[in-house]
Amino acid sequence: MLKNKVAVITGGTRGIGFAIAELFAKNGAKVAVLGSRKETVDKALEKLAAVDAEWEIMGLYPDLTDYASVEAAFAQVKERFGKIDILVNNAGISAREPIEAYEPDAFKNIMDLNVTAVFNGCKAVVPMMKENGSGSIINTSSMVAKFGQQSGVGYPASKFAVNGMTQSLARELGKYNIRVNAVAPGVTRTDMVAALPEEMVARVAAGIPMGRVGEPEEVANAFLFLASDMASYVSGAVLAVDGATVN
Ligand code: NAD
Repeated sequence: MLKNKVAVITGGTRGIGFAIAELFAKNGAKVAVLGSRKETVDKALEKLAAVDAEWEIMGLYPDLTDYASVEAAFAQVKERFGKIDILVNNAGISAREPIEAYEPDAFKNIMDLNVTAVFNGCKAVVPMMKENGSGSIINTSSMVAKFGQQSGVGYPASKFAVNGMTQSLARELGKYNIRVNAVAPGVTRTDMVAALPEEMVARVAAGIPMGRVGEPEEVANAFLFLASDMASYVSGAVLAVDGATVN
């Protein structure tokens, strides 16, 4: 589905981002995996190469919160693979602190990665996509951008911002054939969830209409659809992959 396409995936070293990297490579894309540290990026590349040594993959670890660093990383991808067709802004951190314990610095940090880094990625990739005459940007939102969450206000605030950026840029960039969408996962079995006691996961699952948490591969399928030409007229969408979670 992604033959001859070049994809950049931020936060591609584990969890949902890694599942996206693997699925995109499996579907013929050349993939640049971006992570926060050299060691984790190298490990992710090794894991991908172990699946298929023929895959064209590369790894980088720019500071996503710094525009110049993102721009330089994207230039390296262009130098190696010739272009960027797909950008997945997936790196993110979450928070749970109640407001009184929530340090202003922690709020700034979550906004820097979950919001500013998405802006930086979009800003750096748009000139390349305009040059190509097409592009697909997909941002990772969350189910918390439907109703907020009970504590850790920075996280839902950041994901509502991601949805706002997605819908606004879809309108701004439609005339250039650049599509901008988001995927909003529900509770997904990444490292964070896997580390929880099984009975706690079962309790969470019981509150989900489909009776279970999601798997990273199921979330990655939504990214594949939005990245591919099958979604050629889909832009400005926030696609929930959450088993019909309502809160
Ligand atoms: P994860 O913690 O397993 O992976 C996070 C990724 O982000 C890693 O690749 C990590 O290297 C990268 N990252 C973290 N801090 C970074 C930094 N400062 N600079 C660069 N990269 C950094 O998380 P995940 O669960 O796979 O989450 C991925 C995305 O999905 C996030 O945006 C998250 O908000 C969203 N999400 C996750 C869930 C869930 O239940 N797992 C639900 C809804 C939304």
